[in-house]
Amino acid sequence: MRMRDQSKQLLQKIYSLSREIGREIVLMGLCGTHSQTISRYGLRSLMPKNVKLIAGPGCPICVTSQKDIDIIVNLALAGIPVATYGDAMRVPGFFGSLEEARRKGAKVFPVYSVDEALKLKNNYPDLVFFGLGFETTVPATVYGVQQGLTVYSAHKLFVPAMQALLDGGEIKIDGFINPGHVSTIIGIKPYQPIKVPQVIAGFESEDVLIAVYLLLRQIKAGRCVVENEYLRAVNPGGNPKAYHSIFDVFNVADAEWRGLGIVPRSGLVLKSKFKRQDAKIKYQSLIARINLSQSQEHPACRCGDILRGIAFPSDCPLFRRVCTPETPCGPCMVSIEGECNIEFTQHFPE
Ligand code: SF4
Repeated sequence: MRMRDQSKQLLQKIYSLSREIGREIVLMGLCGTHSQTISRYGLRSLMPKNVKLIAGPGCPICVTSQKDIDIIVNLALAGIPVATYGDAMRVPGFFGSLEEARRKGAKVFPVYSVDEALKLKNNYPDLVFFGLGFETTVPATVYGVQQGLTVYSAHKLFVPAMQALLDGGEIKIDGFINPGHVSTIIGIKPYQPIKVPQVIAGFESEDVLIAVYLLLRQIKAGRCVVENEYLRAVNPGGNPKAYHSIFDVFNVADAEWRGLGIVPRSGLVLKSKFKRQDAKIKYQSLIARINLSQSQEHPACRCGDILRGIAFPSDCPLFRRVCTPETPCGPCMVSIEGECNIEFTQHFPE
């Protein structure tokens, strides 16, 4: 790769600031697409020795709890038609994955959009849409609910997870590279209570370098604000119409995240006026009969640790030996935004 002049200049500034700061700096990227960029362009290896780029809980499929996976697979196996986004099909649970349920004859449909799910509903009136993802994908689910779609919500709000990471105290995080996609919806304000330097960044390699530079500049100056590097896509106010629509349909509740456990006020549950479209209520007696006591990830899988930034894929004993994109043992190997999948496909292509 021929490095562009701007990247070279940014790296010079990053090196200079890191020397002036003179201690280890840990910066966490909060978006799977940032992880792809960091890996594809080898940005980790370009950083000064004292600047560490780690990944966090930015992959929406990966953070979906094992319990939610096991429940939706059981609903499908019980004969309820299920539609969801493609990556979610292959996440392994105790009862198998949705894809395996489909091979056993369950009506499971991968979709690219809520519109596709709504079309399927014409043929399958009992269809349940397994909604997952952060503020970026929730507005589409809102539209689906308003059009009469039944939803099993595993949707999550992103900012509470950032606070949970800091409160957990397992790792000292000096700065966050905030997710570009989520930020197009929420803007800057929801991040402001988080008292760590933050930069909202785009997904080109130079965007990430600019974010690192801006974070180091804040750290050096002892500042702690939210900067927006991704001006070409993120308005400071986000997309208020899309953001507020979320709360027309959903209430905020505690939610379970893989790796983080229960995160207060990070989940989205359908408001009571939509209870007839809430799969968790509609099928509550069926869900109550599912034995979730063994609803745990593979005992050797380190996905939870990877999502908290305390492990890399190479720390997992299953990585490449047992767990590959063809034979995933955990969600981080399934999703194209998962750290294990990114590490595998970038560094160990066929
Ligand atoms: Fe989990 Fe596989 Fe990643 Fe290991 S390599 S952490 S088993 S997804």
